Amino acid sequence: MNRRSTLLLFLLLSGLASYGQSTEGIDACQTTKTRYFGKVFRDAQARQASVANYLSGQAYPGDSTIDITYYGLNLRLTHTPAYLNGATTISFKATSANLSRFFLDLNTQHKVDSIKVGRGGAGAVLTFVRETNRVQVTLPQPLSIGQAYTLTVFYQGNPASASGFGSFAFATHGPTNAPVIWSLSEPYGTQDWFPCKDTPADKADSSAVDLTADKQFVSVSNGRLIGTTDNPDGTRTYRWRNSYPIAHYLISLAMTNYQQYDTPFTSGTQTMPVNHYVYPETLPSIQANLDLTPNMLRIFTERFGPYPFLREKYGHAEFNWRGGMEHQTISSMGAWNPGIIAHELGHQWFGDKITCRNWQNIWLNEGFATYSEALYVEATGGATSYNANINGNMTRARSATGTLYVQNISSINSIFDNNRSYSKGAVVLHMLRGVLGEDVFFRAIKNYVAAPNLAYGTAITEDFQAIVEQTAGRKLDYFFREWIYGQGFPTYRVTWQDASTTGKPGVQVRLTQTPGTNPVSFTMPVQMRVGSAAGDTLVTVFNDLADQTFTLPAKGAPTGVVIDPNNLIMKQVTSTSMTVTGIEDPSESSLVVYPNPASDKLTVKFKLEKPGTVTVSLVNLLGSSVSSHSMQLVKSGEQTLSLPVPPVAAGRYILRVDTPTGRQSVGVMIR
Ligand SMILES: [Zn+2]
Repeated sequence: MNRRSTLLLFLLLSGLASYGQSTEGIDACQTTKTRYFGKVFRDAQARQASVANYLSGQAYPGDSTIDITYYGLNLRLTHTPAYLNGATTISFKATSANLSRFFLDLNTQHKVDSIKVGRGGAGAVLTFVRETNRVQVTLPQPLSIGQAYTLTVFYQGNPASASGFGSFAFATHGPTNAPVIWSLSEPYGTQDWFPCKDTPADKADSSAVDLTADKQFVSVSNGRLIGTTDNPDGTRTYRWRNSYPIAHYLISLAMTNYQQYDTPFTSGTQTMPVNHYVYPETLPSIQANLDLTPNMLRIFTERFGPYPFLREKYGHAEFNWRGGMEHQTISSMGAWNPGIIAHELGHQWFGDKITCRNWQNIWLNEGFATYSEALYVEATGGATSYNANINGNMTRARSATGTLYVQNISSINSIFDNNRSYSKGAVVLHMLRGVLGEDVFFRAIKNYVAAPNLAYGTAITEDFQAIVEQTAGRKLDYFFREWIYGQGFPTYRVTWQDASTTGKPGVQVRLTQTPGTNPVSFTMPVQMRVGSAAGDTLVTVFNDLADQTFTLPAKGAPTGVVIDPNNLIMKQVTSTSMTVTGIEDPSESSLVVYPNPASDKLTVKFKLEKPGTVTVSLVNLLGSSVSSHSMQLVKSGEQTLSLPVPPVAAGRYILRVDTPTGRQSVGVMIR
């Protein structure tokens, strides 16, 4: 789901919704998302309380004694009055012995007329008891473990009144106020419009949606349209069939006077339909963006592997929320900038093909979809665009609170936290790419998408970690522990000093982390760029202590150290400073310069171990000597020199003293 869907869902309730077409670019889109989030966030406590009430009537997550294999929805809908007459067929297998009683989740607002055995309810009538947001069904004979069963629930009601959270809407659009009906079930709204086992953990093997309504409606759902029927009562039925495994919340409907616009996608020898169902008044302004879809499919196919639902289709169905929702093979869309189109398309791999097994692991959906946006801009705009996207996500992710693993799933806002589940999730993948390197990272992503135990199934963080570790050939506990189950990000303080020995330039870098709570300090490989006039050296160190010192090579006299120059880590660097340098501990260095800062005169004190030539140089931060003074046959012992400050630009310099026994340096400020 695009985060704005959730937001707007609440905005609708609070009457703040603004419908309309978005022409924003990706950055503007992100800003809008954040802005809308800010608006609704003020009401967080009230909302959280109402969600808790909503959940209290049910034993989420569904009845574990049944394993769903099929949902077949046969729905008759009227817009005015807003009403649904449903016959939903459910096939399942018993997962416990002697199963004689089980429950389905169905919002209390719906009246259950009957439950009958078989597809379409051709068989015997079953006994049931209506409970709060549930239907308890009693079977005539108990089922043994693994035994299959099919029944059909006949029910009716107004799903919009059932859905306190906008999971089902009757609205209008455009200059003619054309009626529109749509669903958006994620996370807890499926039971507002059909009986189900309300958990993302239990996917059906396939599904079917038959939609009957007045002829003005073009009715859209998952999978392939196998036919339409004009009925004697003036209604039309659209019959949609999905032959892939599907999570209950990814089953959708969207119905209005759609105009269909097609941009087919060819992969190898296969051509797949890409069908956009758009409001007639919207199409002209968004056609150019819809035309981007096949290229996005090509880019993601390269990155993630084949589009998961190639036998069927991809498509969009417009709705009034200014976000998107990744319904399987048919994303519901209210905004059309390339970022949102890429996000919902990315979900077809991450969310739809592999679904988070529980809402605590929503980052496996949203973090990956948000990162898909970055990969799309990288493929089309290069490294600069990618870096800008990641920077934006890092900025938001730094504001994230709590762990990426969602602690409180009774709060929809907590599940779909913009800064955390989306931006931090994407940043974690960016950082993993930095840890693994290009080749291993993208192989790991493809292996994850194709893993036999996960593909078309569900996953939790540990499943993803296992695939990454298998691909990389090493354990990555530290990474997942601190970034998924930990909070915050490292705050580094960097000090460095010249550690050159004769003929071997080098630098000593001390990396200190401000202690946190979880974790106290972060373990990460950290890139460091050591500058010198002769060129830069890029080195990666493995930082696994809160206070750690590294000795690194340099190409010439070191002039500076930049940590993480490629922004591979979400971090803060409080300071990077040069300290008194030399091979020995700075506290033992004999070199003292004062005053510091200096403006006209510098006094330099040092101890000479052996008599000989002494050269005192002032070196700029590029490593070039700007002033040098040599003295020969200097006696050993304490030395005090008074030197005029040379006419150089104000700024930071290194005062370097070369003696027969080595070099000592100290940073000075010239005013
Ligand atoms: Zn999403």
